[in-house]
Amino acid sequence: ARAEALSGASGPGRTRDGHPVPLLANIGGPRDVPAAVENGAEGIGLYRTEFLFLDRATPPSDEEQERAYREVLEAFPGGRVVVRALDAGADKPLAFLPPPGDEPNPALGERGLRMLRRHPDVLAAQLSALARAASGQDAKLQVMAPMVTDAEEAAFFAAACRDAGIEHPGVMIEVPAAALRAGDLAPEVEFFSLGTNDLTQYACAADRQVGGLSHLQDAWQPAVLDLVASAASAGIPCGVCGEAAGDPVLACVLVGLGVTSLSMSAPSLPLVRAALARHTVDECRAAAVAARASRSAGEAKEAARRALPGLA
Ligand code: PEP
Ligand code: MG
Repeated sequence: ARAEALSGASGPGRTRDGHPVPLLANIGGPRDVPAAVENGAEGIGLYRTEFLFLDRATPPSDEEQERAYREVLEAFPGGRVVVRALDAGADKPLAFLPPPGDEPNPALGERGLRMLRRHPDVLAAQLSALARAASGQDAKLQVMAPMVTDAEEAAFFAAACRDAGIEHPGVMIEVPAAALRAGDLAPEVEFFSLGTNDLTQYACAADRQVGGLSHLQDAWQPAVLDLVASAASAGIPCGVCGEAAGDPVLACVLVGLGVTSLSMSAPSLPLVRAALARHTVDECRAAAVAARASRSAGEAKEAARRALPGLA
């Protein structure tokens, strides 16, 4: 059964009717690159740079950063590498960047881009290390900001990238306000990447770190699908790099909602590649319409499965 599920499981991502959907890998650093390559990743869709900064009292040196970024870029000549600027705070606390004072709700506090704006030196050092790492490389470097809420923040990040010599800035869409008003943010940047883990957490007001709320921490929630549709219709490339992209059925639904690339942990790539290869874009769109017409996560998943026969 696995062999059948994996038929069409090599080569670039595309639907049965040949619509390309680049399949990219999520990584935490250079040591994750071999698994991405072995599973046929066409590039990196989310390089979580926090790991470079973890468990230390001071940030990594400029040289250490540059080396780590260059190593990843070198592995994907002709491909793309999407690096996320440091996403500190909330579920990713860093010793050298403590939040200000007492934050009763860290997930709603200083994290992601909010934290970077309080530490412009950290942001500038990271962006310039990235620009140096990308010079002379054959891979396309794209850099995105985490936890962006509105157009002003998107414009701030794009300007910081331009100042550092980074040509392809983007933002993560993981705050419902940003998804709803994606049309305001789109003119400021080159691409969006949907972080469905946080987007679901904030849309459903369900802490991603509380296990007992997993029924609400579910990207099949129709409200989350509506937010994805809003972001994907803003007229710029819109990928997904949250866990949702690694679910073969949901991946087809995301494509049906207008998502243009999918990034996931490397072991999920073959099954998602095979699921796309079995369905046309129109079938994915029909599954997306059926899922959004549902009134619960469970119904949405069932409706999508019915519209996409052959997927477990
Ligand atoms: C997300 O929020 O969906 C995401 C991809 O980022 P992280 O899980 O690292 O917050
Ligand atoms: Mg996130």
